[in-house]
Amino acid sequence: MSLCQSLFDVIADYQLEREEQIVKVVTIHVGPLSGVEPTLFVRAFNLLKGQTIGEQAVLRIDVSPIKVVCKLCGSESEVSANRIICSQCGSWQTTLIEGDQFVLSRIEFMQSR
Ligand SMILES: [Zn+2]
Repeated sequence: MSLCQSLFDVIADYQLEREEQIVKVVTIHVGPLSGVEPTLFVRAFNLLKGQTIGEQAVLRIDVSPIKVVCKLCGSESEVSANRIICSQCGSWQTTLIEGDQFVLSRIEFMQSR
């Protein structure tokens, strides 16, 4: 919930720069390891949007892949959350390079009248 609230705060800042514009679509990028559950987040968004950015706003969530780089052989692999190993050599010694992010990537506005 509080994450959703801070997202609205950021959106409100953008909205201030564009007076008389209405938020239409909000797109966020979420990694599977971010701790954000997309279904729950959408629910929170839809619950809170009316009091903040407006009922017309729609949330889009892009779930990004999990990517790691291997400490042993140095290759990059795309992995699943329950099996984070190097796809080249099978090592567990990997460094996460993508998959835990929560990023506001795009806000689309429409003109109000
Ligand atoms: Zn490896």
